[in-house]
Amino acid sequence: MNKKIGIMGGTFDPIHYGHLSTAETVRIKFDLDYILFVPTGNPPHKMRKITKKYHRYNMTILATISNDNFRVSTIELERDGYSYTVDTLKSIKQIHKDDELYFITGADAFCDMKDWYRADELFSLANFIGATRPGIDTTKFEEALKYIKDNYNKDVLTIHVPSLDISSTGIRKNVLEKKSVKYLIPENVERYIIKHNLYNS
Ligand code: ATP
Ligand code: MG
Repeated sequence: MNKKIGIMGGTFDPIHYGHLSTAETVRIKFDLDYILFVPTGNPPHKMRKITKKYHRYNMTILATISNDNFRVSTIELERDGYSYTVDTLKSIKQIHKDDELYFITGADAFCDMKDWYRADELFSLANFIGATRPGIDTTKFEEALKYIKDNYNKDVLTIHVPSLDISSTGIRKNVLEKKSVKYLIPENVERYIIKHNLYNS
């Protein structure tokens, strides 16, 4: 059976309701069979020190456990160093030969998608869905859409999702400053953060 699989990559440090509600909105609108969350590995050089990958993976599992249409992939976690999207999509495509892939990103992340590394190949592997939300500067996003159309003849699908002004940066800051993160992240993820003393320094 051919399936339509949504792929949502992210650092998920930590995963929050912005990610989850976007994934669910996209799944329904594009009639996808399920969403595969793909936490990134630990990049070798990065400005900020990213939380250990097994913690980010565990939190992603906890956050998605109550949705039968959400799954979590370990594909980037099993690789050392940085994973390019094109390699990740290639690996997923090898496992899901007859399925159709839909790569989902927020409009912000879409604009700087790793400088379109091996873009020709990248765009041949999947459909792309760019999700905008209120308050986001869409000029850059529209420029990126046009660039992709002109250079790769690829129509990116777009969706406007309800505003959830949540970011992992904001959550980490709240935890550090001992402010509430209730209703921004699932309760079990909040428990996990407390139990493992994450984002405290
Ligand atoms: P950070 O603040 O550390 O950059 P983040 O909240 O942006 O984290 P990421 O893991 O970097 O989360 O994002 C993964 C994907 O989710 C990206 O495609 C990003 O555009 C999208 N995304 C992040 N926050 C939201 C949100 N509130 N609503 C919709 N999409 C989001
Ligand atoms: Mg981000």
